[in-house]
Amino acid sequence: ELVNFNEFFNYILDRFDMLLAKDREKAEKAGTTVKRYTIKRIFTHKDLWVEIDPDKLTQAIDNIMNNAIKYSPDGGIITCRLVDTQNNLILSIADQGLGIPRKDIKKVFERFYRVDKARSRQQGGTGLGLSIAKEVIEAQGGHIWVNSAENRGSTFYISLPYDPQETGGEWDEAFE
Ligand code: ATP
Ligand code: MG
Repeated sequence: ELVNFNEFFNYILDRFDMLLAKDREKAEKAGTTVKRYTIKRIFTHKDLWVEIDPDKLTQAIDNIMNNAIKYSPDGGIITCRLVDTQNNLILSIADQGLGIPRKDIKKVFERFYRVDKARSRQQGGTGLGLSIAKEVIEAQGGHIWVNSAENRGSTFYISLPYDPQETGGEWDEAFE
């Protein structure tokens, strides 16, 4: 399916903003607190069209967002970017959480791998999320990778080839 990726990514992030608002409202009524976080969006203004399976890609991005939230400190900022290069779009999701140790960084995409069993157990989850995300993204011709500094945060990146004919820009102008 040919998808306007800017709209698609905005829609996913809107859903997380709505969930946060709902959780806050619930907690307020119950007299408890929930972790606060802010989602910041920095998007290219160019509309990027991509040929993807939107349901599967939503699942992959949802997991990365859920991880970012799970490992963020209270009041953390989650910065979501969308940029384009000549042939690819790159989206990134950066948190200010506890980060991933250098020795574990290559392994987080393996099935069932979880950094520091004790820390992860307390957070819940199976350790499958990122391996599924990698599978889904690579099946659609994309790549996923991560940059992280311990105690400073992690940034997950996804690149996907976009359709230059639909996206416009230089290619279109040359034929006008
Ligand atoms: P599941 O996604 O199946 O519920 P999970 O979140 O533990 O469980 P993955 O999403 O595959 O599994 O992540 C694997 C491991 O990578 C996590 O257990 C965690 O140790 C580490 N990790 C993933 N994202 C982050 C992040 N944003 N910050 C710090 N560590 C992370
Ligand atoms: Mg996960």
